[in-house]
Amino acid sequence: MRGPSPFWIVKCPDCSTEQTIFSRPATTVNCTVCGATLATPTGGRAKLRGELLRTAGA
Ligand SMILES: [Zn+2]
Repeated sequence: MRGPSPFWIVKCPDCSTEQTIFSRPATTVNCTVCGATLATPTGGRAKLRGELLRTAGA
């Protein structure tokens, strides 16, 4: 049974690091390397600033 993946692998727009983030974050997600904003919460799925590379399955 497949559902929407809870995790996304996102590329940082500033330093190009790939990071796994939760797709429905409660708070802003920042790059762990350079601190750039990767995603902002919307109450549902995150609004991405970085590039979504792929989803990470459960
Ligand atoms: Zn970065």
